[in-house]
Amino acid sequence: MKCPFCDTEMLQGYLNCGLALWSTRKHKISLLPDDKEQYAFRLKQPIASPNHVSSSYCPRCKRMIIDCTEYESNI
Ligand SMILES: [Zn+2]
Repeated sequence: MKCPFCDTEMLQGYLNCGLALWSTRKHKISLLPDDKEQYAFRLKQPIASPNHVSSSYCPRCKRMIIDCTEYESNI
């Protein structure tokens, strides 16, 4: 896939991570979203190995793209 910002061919890989939350607000302690909060990407802590989030990375402008359609969201 080509980077939509600079048209460079992107690298395919995985975001290896534990708990994660993309939200419209900052969380200071817990990553638990509240009732009014909008979030687009929520990963729970895996039991054994990290989560593997398929994603693309641009080596030129250092941006990352994640397709969030398969992840928990309320938007
Ligand atoms: Zn780019």
